[in-house]
Amino acid sequence: MLSKPFRNLPKKVRIVEVGPRDGLQNEKTIISLEDKIQFIKLLAKAGLREIEATSFVRADKIPQMADSLLLYQQLKNDPDLKNTSLLALVPNSEGMKRALDAGVKDIAIFTSTSNSFNQKNINATIDESLERIKEVLVIARNNNIRARGYISTVFGCPYEGKTSLDELKKITQFLKDQGVSEVSLGDTIGIANPLQVSEVVEFLNRDFALDFFSMHFHDTRGMAVANVLASLEMGITSFDSSAGGLGGCPYAVGASGNVATEDLYFLFESMGIQTGIDIGKLALATENILSKINHESPSKFLKAFKSQGF
Ligand code: MG
Repeated sequence: MLSKPFRNLPKKVRIVEVGPRDGLQNEKTIISLEDKIQFIKLLAKAGLREIEATSFVRADKIPQMADSLLLYQQLKNDPDLKNTSLLALVPNSEGMKRALDAGVKDIAIFTSTSNSFNQKNINATIDESLERIKEVLVIARNNNIRARGYISTVFGCPYEGKTSLDELKKITQFLKDQGVSEVSLGDTIGIANPLQVSEVVEFLNRDFALDFFSMHFHDTRGMAVANVLASLEMGITSFDSSAGGLGGCPYAVGASGNVATEDLYFLFESMGIQTGIDIGKLALATENILSKINHESPSKFLKAFKSQGF
């Protein structure tokens, strides 16, 4: 029997650009402060209104993000960025205090549905990570800082395989109760498939509104765009992506990580869904940063756009 998909597509979607933080943090080459600032400004010029700019983590652990204070000092009053939110990732209350000093207005906190992943990534169990997050969010609330929550390994974990939906629900509820404005669901190892995506979204929608979620897919197995489409069909309209697919995949050397913003641009715009992105300007921003890290983008659309102009 004929079924009719794509009959209730939205007119527009929201894209959260994570290249400067999630992307560059996972690249080996350390980018200079000037180049980061230029990258962020070019992304804003391309129409991206929410950009994950940096993180306030320990510089000895993540040297790529050691200049977060200087970055904010230079960008926070930039007239070209007055309509752009610059998010900073904050791991704990120490980082939160530094973020406050830097003038950050939007933060992101993170945990995972897997105890093993959390232990390896942030040296804490899930419950311990939620305690840290709670402290961060108290400071955020007291200072009118908007917070988004990231949940990693929602669709699978490199150490535990399938992760628990009940754990996912518990963490989501905790973050909501602590005042986060939204939760971004991460397919950390790029293992999700469209059926699983629809099942997870349906499961969460029993207790939470769809607009509480953003989807954060990785293209490690080439499934990110299919998973975005499945989410869109379920009614999700917010997606994270990284210019040029910056970031790679720490669990599969040489493989893709974050889905490329350019690929999402084409998926949406080719179906008449607005993204607010000027693709020529985005390609320029991406080419510029790629020239600094000396590798190619995995984005198929970007390759076609460069050679054919569409
Ligand atoms: Mg990512």
